[in-house]
Amino acid sequence: MNIILLAPPAAGKGTMAELLVEKYGLKQLSTGDLLRAVLKKDDDEAKQLKEKMNSGQLISDDYIISLVKEELSSGNEKGYIFDGFPRTITQAVELEKILSNLNQKIDKVLYITVSKDISLKRTIGRRVCPNCKKVYNIYFNKPKNENICDNCQNELIRRDDDTEEVFLKRYDTYLNDTLPLIKYYEDKGLLEEVENIDKQETFTQISKILEEI
Ligand code: ADP
Repeated sequence: MNIILLAPPAAGKGTMAELLVEKYGLKQLSTGDLLRAVLKKDDDEAKQLKEKMNSGQLISDDYIISLVKEELSSGNEKGYIFDGFPRTITQAVELEKILSNLNQKIDKVLYITVSKDISLKRTIGRRVCPNCKKVYNIYFNKPKNENICDNCQNELIRRDDDTEEVFLKRYDTYLNDTLPLIKYYEDKGLLEEVENIDKQETFTQISKILEEI
């Protein structure tokens, strides 16, 4: 089973992906996380990527597709959750080609919606564990001890692009480049919209959709 999570910035894609990994044994493929791993190298390539990401723009399709191809080459029996990918029609078309070469397909596209206000609060309140990648929020989902990961006791960090200014740019990019994917997948009969207000309720809804596949 291969699932795409499509959503505005900070709508809860990562959180839902985490729950899907646990319940269905799918492998999460987050292009945002893959890019942040490249940033750690701190070379010229990393600097260029960082500049783009911190200005809320998308990274080039070619670069993203090569990252995804490499990741998919390791394979996963139960399938993938694509988190933050595809973000453009070009990426969507390319993903179909890659999967069809592997005799696979996309089974569902979950369009996770939330208001812009909530998205903004989730962004500026988001804190991430640099070690286990668990995501918290200082407004909605606090760790037990302030700024410390419940799982591994590491100090939580704030992503460089989680400021209000960058959020507004990321949101515009989403409206321009990613929103056309809604119609694209609707036309293919793959799209299911789920409003993400309450984490558990949203996940129950998602589970029902996936169990009908
Ligand atoms: P969010 O979903 O909160 O916006 P992500 O972690 O998915 O954050 O992405 C962070 C940044 O990484 C994006 O703003 C963009 O610059 C870059 N990025 C991630 N995935 C893609 C993609 N599929 N195509 C182009 N750029 C991407």
